[in-house]
Amino acid sequence: MKIQIVRPQYVDFIPRELDEGILYISTKFKTASHLCCCGCGTKIVTPLMPTEFSLKEIGGAVSLFPSIGNWNFPCQSHYWIKGGRVIVAPPMTQNEILRGRQYDDAQKAAYFSIPRVPWWAQFAAAIKAWLGIS
Ligand SMILES: [Zn+2]
Repeated sequence: MKIQIVRPQYVDFIPRELDEGILYISTKFKTASHLCCCGCGTKIVTPLMPTEFSLKEIGGAVSLFPSIGNWNFPCQSHYWIKGGRVIVAPPMTQNEILRGRQYDDAQKAAYFSIPRVPWWAQFAAAIKAWLGIS
């Protein structure tokens, strides 16, 4: 990997031009972006959502989970960002990529099928609790 160290930079908006080795993090828009660590210059967007990527920062060292697999880009690079370092991950076969996608889809389906209590039911429950009726 050309880029071996990634430093976090907190921003409101992800800038149009990115610098190599910087992970731009917008907590406001729940997304992060960086230039592909192989050096190909592709802008990699990693949404920070329960079904996408999770970000951890300890003392300026960032970690992204899961690994970054750039299957949709010519470089096909695959790496982890762990503790601010870029760790090369083994290339995946087409089958593994497919299985990974199926796993992702299953996770998303599970996440989005969690029943949500509609606002009016929450409101009614709050009123009842306030009135002491349960
Ligand atoms: Zn690349």
